[in-house]
Amino acid sequence: TEACLTEIEGADALGAFVHNTPDLAREQAKAADARLQAGDAPAMCGIPLGIKDLFCTKGVPSQAASKILEGFTPEYESTVSQNLLDAGTVMLGKLNMDEFAMGSSNETSVYGNAVNPWKVDDRQLTPGGSSGGSASAVAADLCLAATGTDTGGSIRQPAAFTGITGIKPTYGRCSRWGVVAFASSLDQAGPMTKSVRDAAIMLEAMCGHDMKDSTSADIPVPNFEAMLTGDIKGKKIGIPKEYRMEGMPAEIEKLWADGADMLRDAGAEIVDISLPHTKYALPAYYVIAPAEASSNLARYDGVKYGHRAKLEAGDGIDEMYAKTRAEGFGDEVQRRVMIGTYVLSAGFYDAYYNRARRVRALIKKDFDDVFAAGVDAILTPATPSAAFGLGEMENADPVKMYLNDVFTVTVNLAGLPGISIPAGLDAQGLPLGLQLIGRPWEEGDLLNIAHEVE
Ligand code: GLN
Repeated sequence: TEACLTEIEGADALGAFVHNTPDLAREQAKAADARLQAGDAPAMCGIPLGIKDLFCTKGVPSQAASKILEGFTPEYESTVSQNLLDAGTVMLGKLNMDEFAMGSSNETSVYGNAVNPWKVDDRQLTPGGSSGGSASAVAADLCLAATGTDTGGSIRQPAAFTGITGIKPTYGRCSRWGVVAFASSLDQAGPMTKSVRDAAIMLEAMCGHDMKDSTSADIPVPNFEAMLTGDIKGKKIGIPKEYRMEGMPAEIEKLWADGADMLRDAGAEIVDISLPHTKYALPAYYVIAPAEASSNLARYDGVKYGHRAKLEAGDGIDEMYAKTRAEGFGDEVQRRVMIGTYVLSAGFYDAYYNRARRVRALIKKDFDDVFAAGVDAILTPATPSAAFGLGEMENADPVKMYLNDVFTVTVNLAGLPGISIPAGLDAQGLPLGLQLIGRPWEEGDLLNIAHEVE
């Protein structure tokens, strides 16, 4: 804990931590020491972690990197962070992210961007997003692991951009209670770690049924670490042809082929598969996620939480709502609220929202069919490129940023577990990630397969 606190002090330029809690960390570390001495020590006892700012942490500011939550200090702890505290971990502080987890570069944060510890010459790169602070902190050794959340790729894409491991569990594996909601049918928390083994240990500590979240699943949590047997003989790994996008860089193609070779060498059987509705995933996601966001974010009205705009004489409640929301939400969040409100409006509900929901069901069925045919996991690249430069997308069409999620959003739409693992470097020496997608609730199997590619 002391070593991490020292590292954090010297790493302001990374912008990874947005709120440090050194006193709390030292207190928790002492308690962990006592547990270790008493011989009552779970696997993660004493491990110093960073917690994404999307998780509500009791007595510690939790702002989802938004101005609208300025000054919000929860009276309660999210179930996931409580589970981690119960496991004896130490919280070093809160981590940077895109505002309300909307973004792929950590540049929509009210705190300013986080920086990728990897660089090319002196060019500063994004750590990815939305869990950019988590990825940057783990990659730069400011903490041993971090929590992330993933609605459309926000654990896996930043993990790939920074050369670390990140798993989005099956929807319902981790409780969403106390995690600021973005798109409730897609959001999942998960670990961001330095290795697959760490991810297995941390996932077990984080997840489990929670009475406070009706979508959390009441199914047993296995010992994921014990499932890292190193034996993947006979496993069937699918390579979906629809993920071979036009204009895919040769180095991503090579990374993917090398990953398949590694699995084959370890005794797996590689099969070609088809997920025919893949091309509709991104448009469906960018209807469903904003629709749910516009509803979830309706609660930020200047009354219940955080920021309230200064009002002028004669302003009524409508002006208070409008001014507060105009000041409190950044551009990307406002864009999502507008898209979401539009697709849910009476005249367009069927044309957009309902159609996107039907597409979502077809995407899920694509996966169901492949798994029913005996495929154990699916191998794809995690991202279409390595980390891009900070500011590079600033004036670009927002859709260009959305294209980053092309390989990851399908997994959230289908509620499946997906993991990103570091799998080599590109020609500039930047990390690239491979993604493995597993059957629902089979994170243990998925981690075991991922362990072979690591
Ligand atoms: N980049 C995607 C988005 O902006 C995914 C974000 C996430 O997973 N939280 O919606």
